[in-house]
Parts: sequence; structure tokens; C-alpha cells
Amino acid sequence: MIGKYHSAVKINIRDIAYKPGEMREITRTEELTETWGEGLASVSAGTPVDVDIRLESVHDGILVSADANTTMHADCSRCLTQFSESLGVEFTELFAYTPTETDEYGVHGDHVNLEPPLRDAVVLALPFQPVCRPDCPGLDPETGELRASDSSQDQAIDPRWAKLAGFFG
Ligand SMILES: [Zn+2]
Repeated sequence: MIGKYHSAVKINIRDIAYKPGEMREITRTEELTETWGEGLASVSAGTPVDVDIRLESVHDGILVSADANTTMHADCSRCLTQFSESLGVEFTELFAYTPTETDEYGVHGDHVNLEPPLRDAVVLALPFQPVCRPDCPGLDPETGELRASDSSQDQAIDPRWAKLAGFFG
């Protein structure tokens, strides 16, 4: 396919096209043919994306609701550790039979391509400043080493171990 998008998640809609009220649910697993996202967090090429898709035939086209789950890879914005985390997104878009200026997506022949809205949803969901864990202390600005646990983490010690920690501390 020539254009902005190099890959396609093509769903055939022939059996429900022009039959308002018809509905179909399918599940697909797609492997990304290219990496999505350009910041600290991205979904790498080759990563599978599980998509639950609901197709509803409406007067103007096909209403698509999708629920997708995949795995993002990221560099922690505080300590630079690489980590992976599951990422879930959902979207609902109308694919019009005869797209007008206000329609972003259209039915092409007997299929819809879910790749553009799926990609947009995933890229929007990627964190701008990913953290490996909410309380990541980050790197020491002087040594560049991972900072020692701060007091907030000490308080997080399981009370059953607190005595022991005090004993050795
Ligand atoms: Zn971190």
C-alpha cells in the first residue's frame, strides 16, 4: 500500500455491507511490520497486537469498535532502565461508504483498514515520560548511578520485615 501507512489490518466487510443492523465480532492478532512510536516508549516491529473487533453495519458505512492489547518497550525516563509493559487501547470509528470531508476513514472495496486508527490510538497511549515503576528514584545527578532508596521506599517495607530491617540496619 502506498501512502502514509505501510501496513494494513484489513478486515473484510462484504457480508455485512449495506445491511444496516448487521453486526459481527472478530478477534485478530496482528504483528507490527514497523515500529510504532518514536519517543522513549514504542511498540517494536514484530510485536503482536491482539484486537477484538466489533463491526456494525450502519446507514452510512461500517462502525468499527476495537479493543487492542499489545506490549510496549520503553526506557525509563528517570533511570534509563529498559522495561516492557502491557498497553491497552480502544477506539470507535465510522468507515464511510462515501467518505466526505468530515469522515476520516472510508470503506475500500469490500474491506476496511484498521491500521491507521489502531496506530493512532497506540501512539497516543504511549507515555511521553515512561517510568519503570512509579517510585523509581532515578539516577544520582553527580555519580550517574542509580540513586539509593529514599525514605519513602523505606516506609514501604512490609511491617513484618520492618523489625528485621531495623535489626540489621
Ligand atoms: Zn526507572
